[in-house]
Amino acid sequence: MNSNELFQKSLKYVPGGVHSPVRSFKGLHTTPRFINRGKGAYIWDEDGKNYIDFCMSFGPLIHGHQDPEIKEAIIKALENGWTFGACEKYSLETAEYIVNRISFIEQIRFMSSGTEAVMTAVRLARGITGRSKIIKFNGCYHGHLDAMLIKAGSGLAGTAEASSKGVTSHQADDTLICELGDIEEVKKIFIDHKDQIAAIFIEPLPANNGLLIQTNEFLKALRDICDQNCALLVFDEVISGFRIGFGGMAEKTGITPDLVTYGKIIGGGMPVGAVAGPKKFMEFLAPLGPVYQAGTLSGNPVAMAAGLVNLKKLTDEAYIKLNTQTTKVVAVMKEWMDKNGFEDYQTIQYGSLFWPISTHDKLSNITQLPKNMNERFYSLFKVMLEKGIYLAPNAYEVGFGSLALEDQVIEDLKQRLWN
Ligand SMILES: *Cc1c(COP(=O)(O)O)cnc(C)c1O
Repeated sequence: MNSNELFQKSLKYVPGGVHSPVRSFKGLHTTPRFINRGKGAYIWDEDGKNYIDFCMSFGPLIHGHQDPEIKEAIIKALENGWTFGACEKYSLETAEYIVNRISFIEQIRFMSSGTEAVMTAVRLARGITGRSKIIKFNGCYHGHLDAMLIKAGSGLAGTAEASSKGVTSHQADDTLICELGDIEEVKKIFIDHKDQIAAIFIEPLPANNGLLIQTNEFLKALRDICDQNCALLVFDEVISGFRIGFGGMAEKTGITPDLVTYGKIIGGGMPVGAVAGPKKFMEFLAPLGPVYQAGTLSGNPVAMAAGLVNLKKLTDEAYIKLNTQTTKVVAVMKEWMDKNGFEDYQTIQYGSLFWPISTHDKLSNITQLPKNMNERFYSLFKVMLEKGIYLAPNAYEVGFGSLALEDQVIEDLKQRLWN
């Protein structure tokens, strides 16, 4: 069966045919490709067509598909069994490896997804501070937990409402929404909700509604305001962690959060999430502390073995290569786009993340996004797909560079674009 037939069949058995909504190619006027295989920088679909992959499973595969050392680690771990629900050495070694390399982290707890990590961080922040409200920014994504499926309300300023059915208004009341970059709004919220705010949650490099780069001053101001109000600053580094350097944006900006959440890269393509921070906060978690958190498959040995080797391969040289090769990709794409009807586009890049967007304006919050971006993205995505270039299938998703982008892949990209 080809991709189209498989998708038609999938629609019968699975809601919308997919197990995560962005995979549905909604609004892209074509059916999703069923992927059969990946190797290095490439994926192959069930129709036998191959693509240069700039989605990389939405980030985790920083070394590309089937990295031989990660594969070997997975197989080796697998041969001893794949879950014990008990202590094992891979997660200990990974914890030690991370704690020894990221200065503000003294302890880490592993779980199985980014959503779980943020969910734990929300509960932990509330448990530590004894307060119930959290601040979230418009345009940041933190996974699909109820507390984060909240958007700015259509009524009075400062009100919020659920962005998904099934989330109660009670939950919406506890999440306060601000616009990225607007420190005055954050200050006002702290005054209006004095001694009620447990934490500010932010993607320090917002990369889930396009790439909305924030200034260091803004992040620093959030740090200060949290300190002044005894609230916690939580960096959600599920995308940026181990990508913008090993220590993510915390390391890059020198601004230290109280808690950090990880996912995606941390598992090297296997399901892993984590919450980390100083011991004084992490010890609030069960079994030591009063904040409950658990997981049958947490610290899964196969996943941790993959994650550990994956992290060990992220040397200083690896980051230089990652950023250099991504910059080359962006340049090649820009040249082609400028001469082929996409002059209205710019590509915003930060390290190995890039985002083609149909405006030349500077963008730092979601109110600035161009109105026609979905239609414009559809045109770009369609041509790219035909040419064997796989972009993340949504206008709001960034492109992910990887260490599989060798020079010959970039040559191939040129060929595919210009032919
Ligand atoms: C992907 C993502 C999540 C959710 O992680 P899942 O593993 O998909 O549950 C949370 N926060 C950020 C910043 C993300 O990019």
